[in-house]
Amino acid sequence: MDNTKIRVRYAPSPTGYIHIGNLRTALYNYLFSRHNNGTLILRVEDTDKERKVEGAVENLISSLKLLGIEYDEGPFKDGEYGPYFQSERLDIYMKYALELVEKGDAYYAFETSAELDAMREKQLAEGKQTMYDGKARDFSKEKVEELLASGIPYVIRLKVPRDSEVTFEDIVKGTVTIETNLIDDQILIKSDGYPTYHLANVIDDHLMEVSHIIRGEEWVTSVPKHVLIYESLGWKPPVFAHAPLILNPDKSKLSKRQGDVAVEDYLRKGYLKETLINFLAFLGWNPGEGEEEELLSMDELISKFTLERVHKAGAIFNIDKLNWMNNHYIKEYDLDSIINMSLPYFEKANMDISNAERMLKIISLMRVYVDKLEDLPVKSEMFFTDKVKFAIPEEEEILKAEDSKRIMASLKREVESEEKITPENFKEIMKKVQDETKLKGKGLYKPVRLALLGSEHGPDLAKVAEILGKEQIISFLSVYL
Ligand code: GLU
Repeated sequence: MDNTKIRVRYAPSPTGYIHIGNLRTALYNYLFSRHNNGTLILRVEDTDKERKVEGAVENLISSLKLLGIEYDEGPFKDGEYGPYFQSERLDIYMKYALELVEKGDAYYAFETSAELDAMREKQLAEGKQTMYDGKARDFSKEKVEELLASGIPYVIRLKVPRDSEVTFEDIVKGTVTIETNLIDDQILIKSDGYPTYHLANVIDDHLMEVSHIIRGEEWVTSVPKHVLIYESLGWKPPVFAHAPLILNPDKSKLSKRQGDVAVEDYLRKGYLKETLINFLAFLGWNPGEGEEEELLSMDELISKFTLERVHKAGAIFNIDKLNWMNNHYIKEYDLDSIINMSLPYFEKANMDISNAERMLKIISLMRVYVDKLEDLPVKSEMFFTDKVKFAIPEEEEILKAEDSKRIMASLKREVESEEKITPENFKEIMKKVQDETKLKGKGLYKPVRLALLGSEHGPDLAKVAEILGKEQIISFLSVYL
């Protein structure tokens, strides 16, 4: 293998959605491959027949594409190392499993699942670590042949050496050493002839000439088993880099119970793809000292990304930061795109979006106030209602005061005298109302804002007035006159 060639892989098991942690893995692999002019492989680890979901791979690929993560080799693309679906490589795994048996580093075992359950129960009851007890490790060749000939189901297990140690280097975690007595004799081939993750993963990483394995920390405990397989087959393992776990704010592992874990959920709520990429890049990595900027585009991330800067400690998923970042991207984004992305949310809320010019004004005014596009319709409710809703209901009383009535009467008259309300003429109108009523500042603006918007705070009054339009303003004011 050409040692200078960077080849990495994203190896999902298609489950029908992309977990936030998996997208981060895909992203880190993508950034690393692009930073180093390397190759990103997409390998579909679909050897678990029960977990297979129809259409999952197509969805996965289109989501990755949408998020700007392009792979170079993999399903539906050329590549010399295919097939890229593990379910199409079964004979390859079997061949190497048999080679491991031949070498004495793997063995046949014949327990039924009921027997394995009983073994587990017993170990639990004795307070021991649950693992295969090794009963079939040293069966004689004759015995194994006899059992195989009898046709009873079998598995092939890794023969983990006893009383030894396995050591490997990880770019993020440093040197990791584990006693082999703690490692289970992992099943490599299941009774249905399918490989387990461990066997298939190692063989494919080798045959696909993967140079670096970048993935989440949850896989770190599997590495010793993998190292034993590499060693037995005489292969050099790739470089390992395990990114830290993603945690809830209470430091538990990111889970559905505390929030969404599927990338699709975030996209559906109107988190922009740029936000998700930027946010996930920083979930377990940063560009280093003196690099305070946290808002980075994909290209900037590519140029800054190195594995040496991946963190060791767990990365806390901070939804407030995600919201802050998304608000930033929504504000800065190309307006036409934001409009196109936002309209479906208004439609879903049964709001009339037929007036394109009006929608443009509403969205361009209101986008600064939302953390995600899904919130735009609620935030913009005042433009779609015949009755003002008060942010603080008690404040409606203010509109019944004598001064307020004077303001509203004057405002109504001035608005009536205009053909159409624009931000410019509304400002003029307000000046006239000020002259007429001799009220100014908060004393003038608060009642007007309350009457038109239901709140003292919020978007620019003149722009609100333009969007509401002459008829609507008059109708809102008339309620209190
Ligand atoms: N198929 C594994 C997963 O679902 C791949 C883990 C690895 O990258 O080795 O994430």
